Amino acid sequence: MATIRICNVEGCQRKHYGHGLCQMHYNATPAHRAAQARYNATPACKAARARYNATPARKAAQARYNATPARKAARARYYTEAKEREQGLSSATTAPHWGKGRTGGYRGARREAQP
Ligand SMILES: [Zn+2]
Repeated sequence: MATIRICNVEGCQRKHYGHGLCQMHYNATPAHRAAQARYNATPACKAARARYNATPARKAAQARYNATPARKAARARYYTEAKEREQGLSSATTAPHWGKGRTGGYRGARREAQP
């Protein structure tokens, strides 16, 4: 029976991709994220992104997403908080979601390889 190597991150059952990790956890490594950020800042990437976002299919998908209740609630929350910041009612200097999300979610970096 053939063995399939899986991700080293505890609880992750995804297929191995590189450096002992699945593609999702590999993409979450600081080195990969830094490389991605460097690429995203290049003029070639910015031009490609602008071309992609200008396609009718992409615009339609964005419009569908913007029409979802969750997106509308998030937008309303964002503008309410921005107004509060402007009036000095809130101590927060940035929107609450900034700097959160996938940036803090990398759990597998220091885990030892299985024997
Ligand atoms: Zn994984």
